[in-house]
Formats: sequence, C-alpha cells, structure tokens
Amino acid sequence: MDRIVAARGAELRCKGWRQEALLRMLENVLENGENPKELTVYAALAKAARNWGSYHAIVETLRNLEENETLVIQSGKPIGIMRTHKFAPLVLMANCNIVGKWATSDNFYKYQEQGLIIWGGLTAAAWQYIGSQGVIQGTYEIFQSIARMHFGGDLTGKFILTAGLGGMGGAQPLAGVMANGIILCVEVNEARIDKRIEVGYLQKKTANLDEALAWVKEAADDRRSLSVGLLGNAADVYPEILRRGIVPDVVTDQTSAHDLVYGYIPSGYSPEEAADMRKRDPRKLQDDAGASIAREVGAMLEFQRQGAVVFDNGNNIRTQASQYGVPDAFEIVVFTEGFLRPLFAKAIGPFRWVALSGNPRDIETIDDYILEEFKDNEIATNWIRLAKQYVPVEGLPARIGWFGHGDRTKLALAVNEMVRSGKLSGPVAFSRDHLDAGAMAHPNIMTENMKDGSDAISDWPLLNAMLSCSSMADLVAIHSGGGGYSGYMTSAGITIVADGSAETDIRLQTALDNDTSIGVLRYADAGYEESFEEIRDKGIRRIETEQKQR
Ligand code: NAD
Repeated sequence: MDRIVAARGAELRCKGWRQEALLRMLENVLENGENPKELTVYAALAKAARNWGSYHAIVETLRNLEENETLVIQSGKPIGIMRTHKFAPLVLMANCNIVGKWATSDNFYKYQEQGLIIWGGLTAAAWQYIGSQGVIQGTYEIFQSIARMHFGGDLTGKFILTAGLGGMGGAQPLAGVMANGIILCVEVNEARIDKRIEVGYLQKKTANLDEALAWVKEAADDRRSLSVGLLGNAADVYPEILRRGIVPDVVTDQTSAHDLVYGYIPSGYSPEEAADMRKRDPRKLQDDAGASIAREVGAMLEFQRQGAVVFDNGNNIRTQASQYGVPDAFEIVVFTEGFLRPLFAKAIGPFRWVALSGNPRDIETIDDYILEEFKDNEIATNWIRLAKQYVPVEGLPARIGWFGHGDRTKLALAVNEMVRSGKLSGPVAFSRDHLDAGAMAHPNIMTENMKDGSDAISDWPLLNAMLSCSSMADLVAIHSGGGGYSGYMTSAGITIVADGSAETDIRLQTALDNDTSIGVLRYADAGYEESFEEIRDKGIRRIETEQKQR
C-alpha cells in the first residue's frame, strides 16, 4: 500500500465539502500515523479503520455520500448507508465497545484477532488525530501548572525525566522546551527518536546515559532549555538515575504502558525481539512488560519520596504496576486530577482545527484572529504565541487551542465567516480530543477521584455523543477500551466542518455550545465550584435537583 497523504487544494472528490472534509481527516490521520501500513495511528494499536478493505470501502462511500445520508461504521468497518436528512451527521461510529462483563484485555485481543473490533484510541478511528501536536498544549499546560504549584511559576533550570517518543509522547520534548525546562526522554526505538528530531520536536540524541546527564547538567548550569532523546529502556534508565543519587525535578512516562503485548517494551528486549516474542509467547512478553513496569514505577515512587513531582500522564502505567506487585502505585497522581481539572470543570479543553486546504497560511490567519480577538484569554493567547514560534506543520496544517464554552463557538463562527468571505483558502474542520470535559469517563485517567465518586459512570460521554448527533455535528463517535483496553473508558468524539455556509453557522453554534455545556454540567453535577461559576457567568441552563439522593 502506498503512503496515504491527505488531499489538499480546492478540488472536491466528494459530493460536498463536508464529505470531502471527513475524507481528508481520515487520510490525515494516516499521513500523520506512526505505522500507517498497519493502519495504526498512535498508542501502539489505535487504528484508523478495521483493515485495508474497510478503508477503501469507507473512502468510496464518502466519495458518493449524499448530503442527506449517514455512513455507519462499527469498529472501523463500514456497515451501511442510511437515509437521514441534511442536518444529520454524515458519519456515525462506535469503536471497541464491549459489554461490561466481557470487557477484559484478553477478550479485546481475542475479538481483535477474530476481526470483530479495533481499538480506535481516542482520535485515530474517529479521524481526528493531528500528529503529536494534538497533545502538545495539554502537556505544556501540565508543565505550566507544575511550575506554578511547585517552582515559583517557571521551569527554568529544572530537569524533567520522561519516556516514550511515540505519536503522543513525541510532544513531550517540545512542550518541555516551550515551558523553559530541560527534558530527558528515554526511548527504546531509535527510529522514533529520529522521527521527532526530523519533525523538529526534539533537539539532541544519544545512547549514552553519562552523556545525556552531562548535557542536562550543563543546560541547568546555563539555565537554558534543552530536549534530549536517550536511546534506552525506561525500566533500566529510571532505576539507574536513582542509583546515582540524581533526583529529577519532575518525573513522568508516556510509553505505551497501557498495552503490555503491543506497547511497552520490557527491559532486555529490542523492539524487534518484542515483535518476535509477541508471536511466539505473548503471555511471557506481557509478564516481562509487567515486571519492567513494576521496576520503573518503583523508581518513580522513590523519586517522589525524595522530592520529585511525579505524575501519570494518561498511559495507565500505575494500573499495570499495581497489577504486577506495586501496591502503592496510586500514590502517584494522574495528570488530570493533579493539574488540569479546574480547566475541565469549566469545559476548557483541547479544541482543534484543521486547514483542509493544506495551506499553512490559513492557520496563521486564524492565529492572528485569536491574538486580536481573545486578548483577555491568557491561556489561548500565550499558547498561540508559543505555537506560532515552535510548533511545526505535520500533515494538514492544524492547531490545538484550549478553549472553553462560548469561546469555541465564537472562534468557529468567525472562521466560518472567513471561509465564506474567501479570507481563508478553504474550509476548516473543528474537533477536539475525546479527553474533554463531558466526553470521557476513564476512572484512571480523566475521572479519577471525582468529588462525588462518579469516576466510573459512563452515562456522560454517551449523553455527550447523543447530544452531538441532535446538535447537527458532522461526525460523532463513541469509543471504549482505552488504556488497558478492557472496560477502562468510554469516550465521545465530534467533528464539525466549517464550509462557509450559513447553515453551518447553525451547526457550529449548536454542536459546540452543547458539547461544552454538557461538560460544564457534568462537573457541576460532581460538585466543582468552577462549573457553577461558569453556569452563572454564561447562562448555561442547569436543572437544580436534590443532590445525590437515591
Ligand atoms: P506510541 O505507541 O506511538 O509510542 C510509545 C513509545 O514508547 C514508542 O515509541 C515505544 O518505542 C516507546 N517505549 C515502549 N516501551 C518503552 C520502554 N520500556 N522504554 C522506553 N521507551 C519505550 O504511543 P503514544 O501515542 O505516544 O501514546 C503513549 C501513551 O500515552 C499511551 O499509553 C496512550 O494511551 C497515552 N496517551 C495519553 C494522552 C494524554 O492526554 N495524556 C493522550 C494520548 C495518549
């Protein structure tokens, strides 16, 4: 299969821009993907479609889809075309949803083997992945929050230790440098290190720990930011740094620890040896990965005891460690609870837009609009200034920006007007991460330790998805599986295409406002004060009932 590259320019292959946009988004996730030959986009196994037959059938269907039709997709496989109406979503999908009792990792692998499901990640099967940029602001905001909470507001001269330079983890070195830190990223696969250097996310590489630590020390002495990729295994490097008596200021990990068979590479294995063992004895590989994670998390806990700020960055590493003999793994905080929850409680989260024309100037025009029109929004303007300076274009030009209720709609309507007036050279697709206020229940990532104990309640993302359908979004997806695959999470995804039409003004207004409204309401229901303020300030219509009565 030739490399998939998203179409650019003004020529339509479909019957309308909305269909064309979704087709380009599908192509774009593969253009940006880590292993596109296998249809794998990121996170070891997160796929864009069930198989190549399904991929081609989806492409063919999108090319012929009428405005009043809806393509239905089940775990990456197109199932049928339904007659709906022109305000209905063009694409509906459900990926990797397994009934509770059967939602185990073993069953996931079995059903996947049988060709019954794929795991869609958060943004892979929903065609919303925009390269490592998709998590970069989130990672940056975590570092900023740590800087404010622990280091007087600045990470200058501070040493961040992390691991994993894959599809998502690859954002870490750039986010670390943007936050003025010195970041050492341990990665077992040299090709991944080279890829991040090539795209401008990582500065230097070495296979020598002494050299890496010397560079870190020099940068700390000079008080300059630096990113280093160290070829090695985190399960070896973390304990070794600890043994040398060096305590980093911040420690995390973003290897694919959620998957012990296809993701995390155990100590003593090269990626090729792991691939070989996966075929011969997956159970042994799984147990070796679990044992390595236990060692790595053991070191992380010791770093924490010795004063480092340690956090889980959403890869389920603590869950795996606790299952492999580290009972205190959950003494490490998860990033959402530790650093981002006050933002999510206001439905401020990872909103994103993609210039379907392929013209980077469209993103610059939108950047300029944000800098001008959102002067009071410090999170947004600070980020856009940094992103303009640091973030390279990957695939179709795109931008992530943490915006909340009302602001997302204001931006999207302005962009739709710019498409209409010809100020932009083509339509723009809006989406967001599934890790968003109303869109995800994941008790070990997004909803850990919710105030009201509602961590595992997945009604919220399901409501979110249904609401997005009735609010005229162009694509709506429900995903389950997540880190650890079994029943670890449920999430909802949404894409809306700003094609410049007046009708799309209504779509954008309704779908985006309702998407953030349910996010604010979800956190209000759990008792977060920030949400009540947002409800008061922005006139979100909440129904008051007696709280938590059986
Ligand atoms: P990926 O599979 O593309 O990359 C993982 C990388 O880790 C690979 O390059 C692999 O070689 C490396 N690796 C594996 N074992 C290692 C080890 N022992 N030592 C050093 N390197 C090792 O995955 P990704 O897309 O980068 O995602 C990473 C994790 O982050 C996943 O678990 C994913 O679910 C999670 N995630 C978190 C967020 C968030 O918002 N925080 C968002 C997306 C994904």
